[in-house]
Amino acid sequence: CGIFAYLNYDVSRERRYILELLFNGLRRLEYRGYDSAGISIDSSSSSHNDSPLVFRQEGNIESLVKSVYQEVSATDLNLEESFSVHAGIAHTRWATHGEPAPRNSHPQSSGTGNDFLVVHNGVITNYEVLKQSLLRHGYTFESETDTEVIPKLAKFVFDKANEGGDQTVTFSEVVLEVMRHLEGAYALIFKSRHYPNELIACKRGSPLLLGVKEFTEGQNKGSSYNDMKFISKNGHPKELFLSSDPHALVEHTKKVLVIEDGEVVNIKDGGVTILKFEHGKGSDGKSLSRPAS
Ligand code: GLU
Repeated sequence: CGIFAYLNYDVSRERRYILELLFNGLRRLEYRGYDSAGISIDSSSSSHNDSPLVFRQEGNIESLVKSVYQEVSATDLNLEESFSVHAGIAHTRWATHGEPAPRNSHPQSSGTGNDFLVVHNGVITNYEVLKQSLLRHGYTFESETDTEVIPKLAKFVFDKANEGGDQTVTFSEVVLEVMRHLEGAYALIFKSRHYPNELIACKRGSPLLLGVKEFTEGQNKGSSYNDMKFISKNGHPKELFLSSDPHALVEHTKKVLVIEDGEVVNIKDGGVTILKFEHGKGSDGKSLSRPAS
């Protein structure tokens, strides 16, 4: 029903700040209605290709919040750990396929290790066909959602592209190839252990917005948190946001770009690249010159 993502680059943020920011994003989406919620965050600021952490709950945002803080302290994660780079994703779900339950909540995963994680708004109409073919390739499914085929397809594409050895396929290429197989309506955000500090978002038929926040040296503006510490170079986006709804962005930035159908947004190292997916053209996305900020 709603999606939200947050990325920071060269800005030091504590884990608690990142969690609260994601929770607040979800609270802004709450009015649209939902039956479950979930988030994924980076597991540590030092080893970025560790499996991302995933938290999912049926019911309201506050029960997700409660369970995250319980689990985070239970697994002895340091809440004060500082992330100079971070990519977090969040979702409120309005079930279309599969009852409201933690296993059906998003992010949906490619499987053990969370190689690929996806939050999805919308419906994949050909998921049954995709599921059957992934089952034939040995994939097992944990949920009854239409969404779960997406991260599994991403892993399939990634593994196939890397059969020869070295990882040469880019995150955008993986997503463009996945899009080629999807029918229906979607706004998607992908996070991957293989592409740390990077998020890819794309859409067809469901809304998606990109928010860009820039800082100049020493500035500390537009935030509701007091304990922020900026380590920023100048001019470049230091914090970026994705959402299905402007309500979740306005408190952070006025620089908002409406993503159009078929566009693929790649956020990496504080830079934004937008590719245009073209049907029938394989995975060759056409780069757009449209400025993103
Ligand atoms: N069709 C997906 C599901 O049921 C996404 C629903 C939504 O947009 O929240 O899990």
